[in-house]
Amino acid sequence: MTTTLVKGGRVITATDDSIADVFIDGDKIKLIGTNLSLQADRVIDATNQYVIPGGIDCHTHMELDVGAAVSSDDFETGTMAAAHGGTTTIIDFATQSRTGTMHAALDTWLAKAEKAVIDYGMHMIVANLPDSLLPEMDALVREGVTSFKLFTAYPDRLMLDDGTIFKAMRRTGENGGFVMMHAENGSVIDYFIRKFLAEGKTTPNYHPLSRPHATEAEATHRCIALAELAGVPVYIVHVSSRYAMEEIRMARARGVPAFGETCPQYLALAYEMYADGSFDGAKFVCSPPIRERANQEPLWNALAQDDLQAVATDHCPFCMREGYKGLPKQKELGKENFTKIPNGVPGVENRMHIVYQGGVVQRGWSMNRFVQVTSTAPAKLFGLFPRKGTIAVGSDADIVLWNPQRKYTISAATHFMRVDYNPYEGTIIDGSPSLVLARGRVIFEEDKFLGKRGQGEYLKRGTYGMV
Ligand SMILES: [Zn+2]
Repeated sequence: MTTTLVKGGRVITATDDSIADVFIDGDKIKLIGTNLSLQADRVIDATNQYVIPGGIDCHTHMELDVGAAVSSDDFETGTMAAAHGGTTTIIDFATQSRTGTMHAALDTWLAKAEKAVIDYGMHMIVANLPDSLLPEMDALVREGVTSFKLFTAYPDRLMLDDGTIFKAMRRTGENGGFVMMHAENGSVIDYFIRKFLAEGKTTPNYHPLSRPHATEAEATHRCIALAELAGVPVYIVHVSSRYAMEEIRMARARGVPAFGETCPQYLALAYEMYADGSFDGAKFVCSPPIRERANQEPLWNALAQDDLQAVATDHCPFCMREGYKGLPKQKELGKENFTKIPNGVPGVENRMHIVYQGGVVQRGWSMNRFVQVTSTAPAKLFGLFPRKGTIAVGSDADIVLWNPQRKYTISAATHFMRVDYNPYEGTIIDGSPSLVLARGRVIFEEDKFLGKRGQGEYLKRGTYGMV
């Protein structure tokens, strides 16, 4: 067992802020105090740095097959990139096939994830739910897969009708699990897609035009209403607009256990990215699409005021050009037809950067709030707290030294994600991780990777806790 002493940093959790030393024994935090005089195998000077819990990205899609393409980061490259940006846990999605069981999907994803360099949990995407599969949902909760994601969009692959969604929600309410909703009205979107294609409108700017914000707000409202009726807590993934956010805020105001996440792409990017109709817009094709700039401030406010609880990435990268690191054609599949552009943007490496810059530096958030939305809230909602999501005696030693003096410029030329562009290219961040510990082991120092393929562990999760 290796011991490490992190000395003299400003230790920040979601609630506390003090200068302290953190003593790590093996993979756990053993002691926190001031001026600890303990022998350690390694002493790390954290003077003038923030010492924060490693980030938790509760929404990633590594190695996801979306039909025509597979997301370009696998669990090794994707988790390495996550760690470089200060994230030490991801929760990915095992995805049931329309003809398969949920356990078959879980086995497939756990096999893919064995090469991860940081710890990971799994949610379950339910794509088909005959009554015969309902007992699987109960078993999965006991086995540590405690959250189920359901879709009201993507009619051909994932969309479920309201009756099936309600059935899954009831069951989850009974078994103590948590429901996550991808909320967009897939049938209305399908209407717009057909209309645009029939009119010969095939460029990437028709992607956002086919998914207007009302399709998201409507589905968000409906999902919350169904969850309320079913008696289950509900979490709306990737809230992109103020209108969907306001549905969550109103539900919470009347006491419904509704929660929401937004993503860096909705906080820091805007609709102009698509506007000229060029194929460059394919970089930003994700669902829901990136909205008008006027949505950004309400989303930041919602995070500050707890109308939204977490920032996750929906990391699902696809390359713009064929051949990058030997990868096949990806975004280019949609050159002649925007509906064939694989949906998704990279972000797992830059989530903490974007929230720090936009929240702490530009909007004056406390570091506590930064920790809350990037680590503590996801840990609590998804049953990882207090093992993850805080700095406390007995917690995993997932610790990031965040140096407010260490400027960082985001660029595809230097990022660790396996993708040939970065949506935030050129953005300067006034602070970045200088050292990252995952379960007591230094896996990044400055920009040098010191971890090992396969050292991440699978996390069996508990049931959700109120934030
Ligand atoms: Zn997703």
